[in-house]
Amino acid sequence: MLSWEQAIARLFHFFRLDEIKRKILVFALLATLIPSLTMGWLSYVQNTRVMTEKVTEGLQNATSHTARELDLWIKQRLYELRVFSSSYEVSENVEKSARGRPRGKALQRLKAYLKSVREKFTDYEELMVINPKGRVVTTSAAKAGPVNLPPNWLKQARAGDAIIGNAYWDDLPNKPAIKIAVPIKAADGRLLGVLAAKLNFHTIETVMKRLAPGETGQMYLIDSEGRLITSSKESSAALMDSRLPDPVTQAMFEQRTLPLEYSSLQEEGVLGSIALSSQWEWGVLAEIGKTEAYAETTRIRNLTLLITLGVLLVIGLSAYLLGVTIVRPLDRLTKGADQVANGNLSVEVPVVSGGEVGYLTQVFNYMVGKLRQGQEELAAINNTLMMTNRELQELSITDGLTGLYNRRYMMDTLTNEVARAQRLEHHFSVLMIDIDYFKKYNDTYGHLAGDELLMKVGSVFRESIRSMDFAARYGGEEFLIMLPEHGADGAMEVAERIRTKVASATTGDKNRKDPVTVSIGVAAFPENGATPAALIASADAALYQGKERGRNRVVLSGVTPNEQTAGGRRSAPAERHRRS
Ligand code: GH3
Ligand code: MG
Ligand code: MG
Repeated sequence: MLSWEQAIARLFHFFRLDEIKRKILVFALLATLIPSLTMGWLSYVQNTRVMTEKVTEGLQNATSHTARELDLWIKQRLYELRVFSSSYEVSENVEKSARGRPRGKALQRLKAYLKSVREKFTDYEELMVINPKGRVVTTSAAKAGPVNLPPNWLKQARAGDAIIGNAYWDDLPNKPAIKIAVPIKAADGRLLGVLAAKLNFHTIETVMKRLAPGETGQMYLIDSEGRLITSSKESSAALMDSRLPDPVTQAMFEQRTLPLEYSSLQEEGVLGSIALSSQWEWGVLAEIGKTEAYAETTRIRNLTLLITLGVLLVIGLSAYLLGVTIVRPLDRLTKGADQVANGNLSVEVPVVSGGEVGYLTQVFNYMVGKLRQGQEELAAINNTLMMTNRELQELSITDGLTGLYNRRYMMDTLTNEVARAQRLEHHFSVLMIDIDYFKKYNDTYGHLAGDELLMKVGSVFRESIRSMDFAARYGGEEFLIMLPEHGADGAMEVAERIRTKVASATTGDKNRKDPVTVSIGVAAFPENGATPAALIASADAALYQGKERGRNRVVLSGVTPNEQTAGGRRSAPAERHRRS
């Protein structure tokens, strides 16, 4: 593999992306996620900027408009007060009441005037006349309220200036209030006192209510110390006691950054903007909850995320299906290859798709078919070879005519048996058998008939012995039978039985007058020979004796003719002794 391929493969392995399915899935998701999120983020930033500008503009409009209204309102009130204070009714009655007589009447007229004015102008809660000593001369109310003017009011009044007090919470009508006053002067310019008015903020509150931004937005009237005087939602003593945090007030009055983000009195994140009054050290604050201000941005952001999520789901599912359609045929191929590797060549992988994988599957099936065919042919060849081998082995140890073992194999077996019997101190015997007058038989009935006779004699031998015994064709018409675990006596009995059987098996053939007989020489191990050659020689010698004595008989090696009865039967020991 090329090195760059190895590097990439290692990278995939590090991220556990060895499987094709995962690779496709991750690639598809990244290919969707990166552009979607990039575009989404860009549009979110853009939206936030636009929304912030819009909100700022809205807040600034509301505050500047309200600040203008506030200026107008206070100007108007001061103007009105100056008109009232300069009315003859006021100056004359104030002077009269100061001088004394008739005091009560002047005061009454003054009070009536104040009351009539108070009733006409709803912004006034109370109108009062205060003399230069600071005492209330008379009031529009039933009972005079507190004076509540700034400490230097007299100085201001002497200078002819309007006096504007601080806002305060007025318990009597339970509203925020402010005192303003203008000087009352006599015709000669003397200061007679001041006409003071207690104003409510009803007009300003109405304006603020109307201009409060959004649904959650609020507007406040604040003084230079950040104290909240009244708001578009409520006015209360508690509100008046509260103030914005100093840094917020400071920043707002300095108009540093607009809009300013801070935590509202309700502990909510808000955006706020302030406009200052040109008349007073007061300001108008408009604030709106960030949630509401950025609702549209949030909505677009959520929608973008939702769409991205939907697209991701669809792409993810498609990628998964794509992966499955690629990987499943490959999985089947892998399993098929695994089975082939384990020696199962009956595998046939279904071809469900076209393209490279489909072609690969076809090639795989073709290849497995070829392997199967090869295996079958190999098995047939093996079979043949095995059979041939077995046959060859059989042939190599069998006599072709009689089906008995051949001489070579007999000699090997005899050698083994000698060794075995020696080791275990067992005994065994051999019979050397020769057909009598076989040359004559051949001459009389033909060579073919001679062969048939050999076959017949062979089958008699086979039938006459145990499975542990061993019969072989030793030469032309000579046979050797080995009888393991048989001593001379047992061997003689077997030999006798064989001799009789051969005779009876060849009796009654219509083509022949006489039965075919055999002569048998018997030798026992170890008495008649301790080696294969010695044993065979003994048996051969016994056979020769049998022929000598007239054939058709069994002779035990080392036994004299007198010791053995005619017909092969062994004579009794006493008889044998007598004959010798
Ligand atoms: P004896 O009783 O002394 O054994 O007399 P015999 O005629 O059997 O003499 P011998 O044992 O020497 O005979 C061997 C004969 O066996 C010689 C040969 O013609 C015959 N012979 C040997 N092998 C075969 C064979 O495979 N087929 C046939 N038909 N004859 C065979
Ligand atoms: Mg012979
Ligand atoms: Mg013979």
